[in-house]
Amino acid sequence: MIVENGGQALDDCYQCGTCSSVCPWGDFRDFRLRNLIRLAQFGIEGYEGEDLWNCTTCGMCLERCPRGVKTIDIVRSIRNIMGEAGTLPPLLQSALSGLAGNGNPWAGDPDKRTAWASEVGLRPHTEESEILLYTCCTHAYDPRNIKAQRTLARLLEKAGVKWGSLGNQEKCCGDPAHKGGRADVYQSLRDENTQQIRGLAPKKIVVTSPHCLENFKKNYEGLKGVEVIHVAELLRDLIRDGRLKPEKPVKARVAYHDPCYLGRHNGIYDAPREVLKAIPGVELVELSRHHEDSLCCGGGGGRMWSDTPVAERFSVQRINDACAVGAQSLATACPYCVLMLTDSLGTVGKQDVLEVVDLGELLARSIDMGTLEGSPNPPAMVRGEQSSPAPHATGGGR
Ligand code: SF4
Ligand code: SF4
Repeated sequence: MIVENGGQALDDCYQCGTCSSVCPWGDFRDFRLRNLIRLAQFGIEGYEGEDLWNCTTCGMCLERCPRGVKTIDIVRSIRNIMGEAGTLPPLLQSALSGLAGNGNPWAGDPDKRTAWASEVGLRPHTEESEILLYTCCTHAYDPRNIKAQRTLARLLEKAGVKWGSLGNQEKCCGDPAHKGGRADVYQSLRDENTQQIRGLAPKKIVVTSPHCLENFKKNYEGLKGVEVIHVAELLRDLIRDGRLKPEKPVKARVAYHDPCYLGRHNGIYDAPREVLKAIPGVELVELSRHHEDSLCCGGGGGRMWSDTPVAERFSVQRINDACAVGAQSLATACPYCVLMLTDSLGTVGKQDVLEVVDLGELLARSIDMGTLEGSPNPPAMVRGEQSSPAPHATGGGR
């Protein structure tokens, strides 16, 4: 049954245990992927227990497994069986039910998805558009990430980028359902999104989340041949091409947190660092675990909607990592990471010595943003302000 659900990799595992030894959960609790795989290989009860939901799909085991076992496919396939049986963890179940109904996992009003664009004005995608800007649900509904998204919009204006959007027709890429046991919800979103995007025939898609990047590039068969890049790559290109000029000094010691789905899963390590290095005054330092060894923020794989004790939160460890290297700013390029790290910064009370900042936000500080008047892309339609803050997870996952 697991194999039928996409877990063909199950047979490849020869039980060496490397996955268990590299898993970040090893610092907190006795969660061993090898054991889970063993139970599943023999079809013994227990593989579908609580441990199954610990995996953040961070990809560390995927990268280190000597047999190249697609470990995350195994986890996903077992979760899908649980999803079919209606036995998902309650918080995740609730978020995914909302996703099925609203097109986003934050219980956000679909008609207000593009409220973040109220300042610059939203542009429908046309054949003139340089890029189709695909905004992650977390950028659209989470108040902290809306700020980052607004700054990004102003950067695009400053650079004169002709961007277009699906508007309120835009929906979640399906990532929480893909990793969280609702393959049916994921497939329905994937098919709808593919049809909409194909209908627009965009020259290039720019996604704001590494999770959308992963899905569009690897899991959306229907988007094969369409160029998809992450916003960190776009910002790097805009700086290289002289369309954005970081000139104002930003004096700060900055550490960069590699998001799992930008780094390990998609190999994008240099683009965000190139952006940071282009900011005058920034002293870029590396965290103790970086690039391929980066520690997950804890929010992937549906863990955003979980109740994790503070002592077991990866994001708390990450804040401590940043403080250990004397960073004043912890920059990152994923809305999940921004959300998780910001939450844990408050939890450990380190706001006086450290900030969590989105890559674009830090870049914007070094650019004379001016006003929006005289923008090469005058607003096409103005949306109302978002009326209520996004309903977060309980906070437990963070
Ligand atoms: S590292 Fe790979 S082969 Fe080794 S136990 Fe884990 S999945 Fe199996
Ligand atoms: S993907 Fe990450 S969290 Fe999941 S089992 Fe592998 S190393 Fe652990």
